[in-house]
Amino acid sequence: MHDGYGREIDYLRVSVTDRCNLRCRYCMPKEGLPLVSHGDVLTYDEILRVVSIMSDLGVTKIKLTGGEPLVRKNLPTLAKELKNVPGIKSVTLTTNGTLLSKYMKELSVSGIDAVNVSLDTMNAEVYSYITITGGGSLDDVLKGIRELRKYPDIDAKINCVPMGIKGQNPIELLEFAKKDFIHVRFIEMMPVGMGKNFSCFGEDHLKKKIEERYGRLIPSMKNPGNGPCRYYEPQGFLGMVGFISAVSHRFCDGCNRLRLTSQGYLKTCLQYEEWIDLKGPLREGASDEEIRDMIVRELKKKPKGHRFGERDINREEGMTMSQIGG
Ligand code: SAM
Ligand code: SF4
Repeated sequence: MHDGYGREIDYLRVSVTDRCNLRCRYCMPKEGLPLVSHGDVLTYDEILRVVSIMSDLGVTKIKLTGGEPLVRKNLPTLAKELKNVPGIKSVTLTTNGTLLSKYMKELSVSGIDAVNVSLDTMNAEVYSYITITGGGSLDDVLKGIRELRKYPDIDAKINCVPMGIKGQNPIELLEFAKKDFIHVRFIEMMPVGMGKNFSCFGEDHLKKKIEERYGRLIPSMKNPGNGPCRYYEPQGFLGMVGFISAVSHRFCDGCNRLRLTSQGYLKTCLQYEEWIDLKGPLREGASDEEIRDMIVRELKKKPKGHRFGERDINREEGMTMSQIGG
């Protein structure tokens, strides 16, 4: 499946809920978002139907996201059923890790291929400042990561948004990659939703700090993920260090993804307030061919790239990252 600019699209991010048990400052308002009723969220059967239509079109990789995907009931069951969709080669998950220790065993039985844990700091106070938890659950995340590492065949990554706030010390997270086969990736803050109110450390600044502490960062040819992360292999590390810098090192030319929100909107780009509703047609009896044609038509309209940082963008996306799924 190719978009209007000839880019091959083989990756779909599926958000299963826009609810979350955390309130990361750059992602979700602290008072939360208006609750979406269960009836307005795609059922697992509806998600499976969209994925199998997409798989016929050429999608092979699925990322389960949210909100926090593990707050939705029976997520491992969905993962297992997605793995059984013909043509789907990998099903992965991104989670804040707080519920991971509880579900890791079931996830492994489901055949999940990789788990990304979002963790911005090793400092408990800063963790509760960023996530507005009132404290406590950094330990749960660390427990989740330990549980994840009991399944060495499941690829493990830690994703950190380096906000540049006092005490966050994002570089401390590299100790995971130094001692274990865990890749640590730094995701540049994107000016989407709440992210517009924050700045962050840039890739060049972080690289300099990392090299001061750990020595030269050697670019790696490996890419253990689905996307635009650029990896480095510091000497003596078991895992790699990666940078996903959508704003400062734009990578739209290689964009391979679509996004399906929990309410059934299909989005071809993060930045623009453009989507089509698939839930309505799914529930009104549209045939697979009709859904397929809608997807293909929308894909042809996928923008060439984001225009973060520019003014006067027409219809800039108003959803938060938690509603889009990151
Ligand atoms: N709750 C899950 C989690 O935290 O991994 C899945 C959803 S979350 C929206 C997915 C990813 O988006 C997280 O790694 C989070 O740090 C990232 N994210 C949220 N807002 C962002 C922003 N404005 N810029 C860059 N990344 C952001
Ligand atoms: Fe929740 Fe993930 Fe957003 Fe944090 S980044 S508020 S954990 S959805």
